[in-house]
Amino acid sequence: MVYKNIKNIDKIVFGTGSFDQLDEIIAPKRTQNKKYFVFLVDDFFKGKYLEKRIPANSDDIIKFIFTGKDEPKTEQIDQLRDEILNSKGLPSGVVGIGGGSIMDIAKALAVMFTQEGSSTLYQGLNLAKNPGIYHVGVPTISGTGAECSTTAVLTGPEKKLGIKCEFTPFDQIILDPELTLTVPTNHWFYTGMDSYIHCIESSTGCLYNTFSKAYGDTSLQLCREVFLGEDSGQTVENAEKLMVASLFGGLSLSYSEVGVCHALSYGLAYVFGTRHGIANCIAFNVLEDYYPEGVKEFREMIRKHHIDLPINMSKDWTDEQITKMAEISFALSHMWDHALGADWKEKLTLDMIKDLFRRM
Ligand code: NAD
Ligand code: ZN
Repeated sequence: MVYKNIKNIDKIVFGTGSFDQLDEIIAPKRTQNKKYFVFLVDDFFKGKYLEKRIPANSDDIIKFIFTGKDEPKTEQIDQLRDEILNSKGLPSGVVGIGGGSIMDIAKALAVMFTQEGSSTLYQGLNLAKNPGIYHVGVPTISGTGAECSTTAVLTGPEKKLGIKCEFTPFDQIILDPELTLTVPTNHWFYTGMDSYIHCIESSTGCLYNTFSKAYGDTSLQLCREVFLGEDSGQTVENAEKLMVASLFGGLSLSYSEVGVCHALSYGLAYVFGTRHGIANCIAFNVLEDYYPEGVKEFREMIRKHHIDLPINMSKDWTDEQITKMAEISFALSHMWDHALGADWKEKLTLDMIKDLFRRM
């Protein structure tokens, strides 16, 4: 048995208002490379109060990135890298300020600044050859765990797969719950559920262990308080709880794996571009055979927060689309290994996956 040797985030700041420590935190790194920083900021914040608080000096680059439609793409990372390197050379560091999409863009870019060729060549496990540059994550939506995960998920021409290597995790994260208070209710719910589903999937597969359980149990407890507790909802206190739930859900996964829901969700994302949080919720809702308790509790949360989860979507899907989604899902063998065991191919057929899609 060879145990996984995981690379974690180096430094964490947590607390309301902690965003204002960013300037001081990055100051010592400003001597590296061409002595300037790149700030990748979700364009939701353009013109908002947070924009004025970004500690950029006149040499720095601030890039507002629109994340409202597509998830991060390999082509987008390649373009950003080439454009920035051609204009100013290798930066001292990258700071990502936004939801899971910006977290992944910042991580991928920090790694890709120092690799040759397209990011499509590095989608997979430990393919990057050179250490990336210093990078900081400031999440503004809680749930994905992208702030602490070892992967930067990208959609390329052939697959949706992460750049997963020891250079990917952030050197520093700043967890300021206040930044998440503006997230619209539906999105707050769908992305928050990512955390809940991470813990359910992590806890019901073969790789589950004491390390994953310790983080996962705490994360689940916090999710239950946020989404089902007496004071549930989008309050300041719950913003803190969900931010920690997201981090702990991610840490639980770092020593375990996602399962059936994420395998199906990747199919939806690939064929229809369905966003991660909502795709997970659509998929999880049909998985009572695999996660009976989790799905029951999830539906209570849906009811409590009056979330209008799309159903009966498959009536508009062609056989070809369903087959493609099932093939994408089927190919994610590490997820099925964890969820169903090493002999999963004896338990699961492509037709069974297609049936699950037809229930959505
Ligand atoms: P997101 O980053 O895609 O953002 C969704 C929307 O919310 C955007 O329109 C954005 O402008 C807006 N937004 C961001 N912050 C806001 C705020 N504070 N207030 C109001 N609006 C705000 O959303 P997400 O759900 O956090 O992330 C999804 C992405 O994360 C997907 O691309 C998925 O692949 C990725 N992901 C990565 C991992 C990982 O481990 N690397 C894990 C899960 C998901
Ligand atoms: Zn997820």
